[in-house]
Amino acid sequence: MPDYVFPPAAVPAVPVEGTTALFPVRRILCVGRNYAAHRREMGGDEREPPFFFAKPADAIVPLGGDVPYPSLTANLHHEVELVAALGGGGADVPVEDALSLVFGYAVGVDLTRRDLQSAAKDKGQPWEAGKGFDAGAPIGAIRPAALCGEATGAISLTVNGQTRQAARVADMIWSTAEVIAQASRLWRLAPGDLIFTGTPEGVGPLVRGDVVHGEIESVGVLDFTIR
Ligand code: MN
Repeated sequence: MPDYVFPPAAVPAVPVEGTTALFPVRRILCVGRNYAAHRREMGGDEREPPFFFAKPADAIVPLGGDVPYPSLTANLHHEVELVAALGGGGADVPVEDALSLVFGYAVGVDLTRRDLQSAAKDKGQPWEAGKGFDAGAPIGAIRPAALCGEATGAISLTVNGQTRQAARVADMIWSTAEVIAQASRLWRLAPGDLIFTGTPEGVGPLVRGDVVHGEIESVGVLDFTIR
């Protein structure tokens, strides 16, 4: 054990279905605009290649629970997403090998301070304040990949029981394998990396007291409340 000048922060970790062992999080990468209808609602062009942004690993809120309404926003948005949790790594991973890196899948919500993100876009500034804030990445338990099938089924999010987002993971412009392969060209991936693969249409605001339920067929659920 090195002699640190103060104790290092705890490793962010996510429960894994079927075991008491935790998945230690190294990095969080997120894909922007990976469903055609969401790309249109955000004013984008369907032919653009995928792009990525990051959240800090300690932005996760394992198993949801209570998520504090973040500071300095009046327009917090939900984005339900399939999350690929990597147990392997590498650089320049071919598409056909990419899914072999996946340890398991989970339901995640890419919480977004949309007003800060929009202001940053307008000014050509980075997105960190809009995307990479504290508790900005609620995530459900990770289900081992072998139990998830292709993980391309129904994806949905309700707020207080009302459906806001409902689509199919198969509708992604870039598949999970293509997303992982592309990310590995930009960064050397490693075990512990979480990749949020993008959200379908229907993103919208959350307020204090909202009860959020995310679900992905064959993957699992995520429940949390905005406090
Ligand atoms: Mn997103």
